[in-house]
Amino acid sequence: MSKNVPVTVARGDGIGPEIMDATLRIIEAAGARIDIEEVEVGEKVYLRGISAGIEQSAWESLRRTKVFLKAPITTPQGGGYKSLNVTTRVMFGLYANVRPCVSYYPFVDTKHPTMDVVIMRENEEDLYTGIEYRQTHDMVESLKLISRPGSEKIVRYAFEYARSHNRKKVTCFMKDNIMKLTDGLFHKVFNEIANDYPDIENEAWIVDIGSAKLADTPEAFDVIVLPNLYGDILSDIAAQVAGSVGLAGSANIGDRCAMFEAIHGSAPRRAGQNLANPSGLLLGAVMMLVHIDQPDIATSVHNAWLRTVEDGIHTYDIYKEGVSTQRVGTREFADAVIARLGQVPGQLKPVSYTSAPHHTSYTPTVSTPSAEQKDLVGVDVFLDWHSGTPDELGEKFRQVGSNGLELTMITNRGAKVWPGGMPETFTTDHWRCRFMAHTRGATIDHSQIIHLLERIDTAGYDFIKIENLYNFDGKASYSTIQGE
Ligand code: NAD
Repeated sequence: MSKNVPVTVARGDGIGPEIMDATLRIIEAAGARIDIEEVEVGEKVYLRGISAGIEQSAWESLRRTKVFLKAPITTPQGGGYKSLNVTTRVMFGLYANVRPCVSYYPFVDTKHPTMDVVIMRENEEDLYTGIEYRQTHDMVESLKLISRPGSEKIVRYAFEYARSHNRKKVTCFMKDNIMKLTDGLFHKVFNEIANDYPDIENEAWIVDIGSAKLADTPEAFDVIVLPNLYGDILSDIAAQVAGSVGLAGSANIGDRCAMFEAIHGSAPRRAGQNLANPSGLLLGAVMMLVHIDQPDIATSVHNAWLRTVEDGIHTYDIYKEGVSTQRVGTREFADAVIARLGQVPGQLKPVSYTSAPHHTSYTPTVSTPSAEQKDLVGVDVFLDWHSGTPDELGEKFRQVGSNGLELTMITNRGAKVWPGGMPETFTTDHWRCRFMAHTRGATIDHSQIIHLLERIDTAGYDFIKIENLYNFDGKASYSTIQGE
């Protein structure tokens, strides 16, 4: 008999304690070999004034056990509270968020009877870095950050997952027709890594039409890998069209640690009434059991759960007259699953887990960057300004440029307004003034930028930020301008 595995458990808020109780009762009845370390996270911790919603002792438990089974939590309304989920994912490097969305037709009502999609969401980057600024009276900004190693890790994980789970195809969703550098990098990395997996089909969709296709014809997809924000939105949609958000579990995987949860929230309106469906958290716990190398227990729990669903024993969210046989509460649903341990479904496909690939072969190899030539060729200076026309600003700033730097363009919300702007273009108080080296193709240095900023300051303008413009290996690596 193998040793018990320590697992950090948080019961969470709202329906959290009820669904966690149900989940733990089921996996313990199935013989899960775990030692539970309970920690408190969420609303009560936030309201004690801890802005991350988690105590130091809970971090220490996680660092020790490296496995976290977490019920949903409530983030209190109002400013100043950081998302515990985002913090945990980033602090522990949980780069892959795996969300299987499966139909259980005809036992759970769905328009898509054969749907079986795994959403593989990048978990640490994109707009979720939460780096935001108010810059002017009218304008706020959020930074979208996509890195090469971050993209490589999630894309390689998706292909490795496809291979080890006998999946046939990996599809990338992104929007590189608009975000040419950020989503462009994600797409490029996808294409590069896909080459290493000739046994697995690959394809890429622009996220808008890809989402429409997913909502309409999910059978066309197998594993979908995508940046953080698109993944967040699409995994809820995918879970809902498969049957219910209450049915999907999620694994957050890192090199050193992993967190397992339901994809839904704490559903406060349902709390304390023995109503909630514990299936999402239970299926999260099944993924945890595979991860901690207890595939026998994972198989037994998952098959008993399938059998329960197939027997029509349903909580309110999936209960349907004529399909369901019994409407039950959270506790009774757990009792029904426990009573079916050892059974397999008759019509739904039984599962059979064999090993724990997550923490062995899934660790991606991230490539090291080649030696690239990086040249500073210009600077965009952003201004807070609201006292004139684009032509007036252009005239002033032509004079401000000096010391080898020349004003080449002004934009407002990305649209070119100088030179040769159109009177119809709406402008705000947020301007971008592009300065390039006088001599075409020449490089510039930091001191020229500092000198330029001094001149702008002396001329009485409020610059709010700058972005350096670089060529990498001679290729312009900054956005060109709409209307250029
Ligand atoms: P929610 O997922 O809690 O609820 C959305 C809807 O789904 C509700 O109608 C709810 O009744 C239903 N539902 C959700 N889970 C269910 C279940 N297990 N059984 C039956 N019905 C279920 O989303 P929300 O209402 O937007 O958010 C409520 C709180 O949850 C917020 O404080 C939010 O910040 C938090 N939240 C937490 C997590 C997490 O901890 N991972 C994720 C999402 C939202």
